[in-house]
Amino acid sequence: MSVICDNCLDKAKYHSSNTDSFTGRKFDIYFCNRCFIGKTNLDKAFDFTPHYPKNYYGKDGKKFNFLIEPIVLFFRFLRSLFCYRLFNKKDIKLLDIGCGRGQFIYLMKKKGWFVYGTETSSISATAAKKKVGDDSIFINKDLSELENIETNFDIISLWHVLEHLNEPKKLANLINKKLVNNGYVVVEVPNFNSIQHLINKNDWIHLDCPRHVTHFTKEGLINFFDNKKFKIIKSSTLSLEFGFYGMLQSLLNLFVPVPNYLFFLLRKKDAKINDIPFMKNYLSLFLTLILFLPLSIISVIFEFIAVILKKGGILRIVIQKI
Ligand SMILES: [Zn+2]
Repeated sequence: MSVICDNCLDKAKYHSSNTDSFTGRKFDIYFCNRCFIGKTNLDKAFDFTPHYPKNYYGKDGKKFNFLIEPIVLFFRFLRSLFCYRLFNKKDIKLLDIGCGRGQFIYLMKKKGWFVYGTETSSISATAAKKKVGDDSIFINKDLSELENIETNFDIISLWHVLEHLNEPKKLANLINKKLVNNGYVVVEVPNFNSIQHLINKNDWIHLDCPRHVTHFTKEGLINFFDNKKFKIIKSSTLSLEFGFYGMLQSLLNLFVPVPNYLFFLLRKKDAKINDIPFMKNYLSLFLTLILFLPLSIISVIFEFIAVILKKGGILRIVIQKI
């Protein structure tokens, strides 16, 4: 079994499968051994609508309950520090693709940057517009609209966006056009070549098929951007935001009958998706509660070791246009 790799147009071989927890539908992942990039096998006209249920983003665009929201905000603050340090000055033009509710670009605006964001979810985009202003946010289904913007950017960021795009190659070309010379691209995606994926195999939370269309390894991410046009500046597999949590969830999945049950618990009531049978639900809750603390400690140790081996759960790279 093989499909065509979008990156090199060579054959990609069957790798594994993943079941969508929202719909119960199984999807196959193919992997190109030339590019080190995986892809979820979807039809050209695949309809994503049933896989982003209405309550996917929560009523007001908030996915998580009130305890998690301040933590999310803290992680946006860390992202803002990371990006500011790439330049250490004001008046930088930033485009954040998939800006969500605009928390990250709002922080950059406060630091004196000119910020723009794109967002496909109209609920999130409305929240972002309120935060950073109407003119800064583009609601779009098709990123090629960005070609019509007159501005060129010093930095373009993609936080957990690239893996969701159905035609990511189109975006790579667009980035090349809209980025100034010596400008930066910051990309963060799940690491397909991570230890937590190895532990959890087909139930790994970051496979997230079919919402994740492309599955990147570090080599894959570098191959994805043309190395004649871009050079790599920084790369890391450490993520305080998702790395330890991903490892904890992977370890919990080894014992708890409902895959990714902790993630289900953390979602807000109005952002919860599926009904779980009564007994299975309580058994999962019971096991999650007793295992939470010991596995949290183990997951910190495991993920640190993974990061040292460059196999942490999340990849972040900074590349510069040559
Ligand atoms: Zn390929």
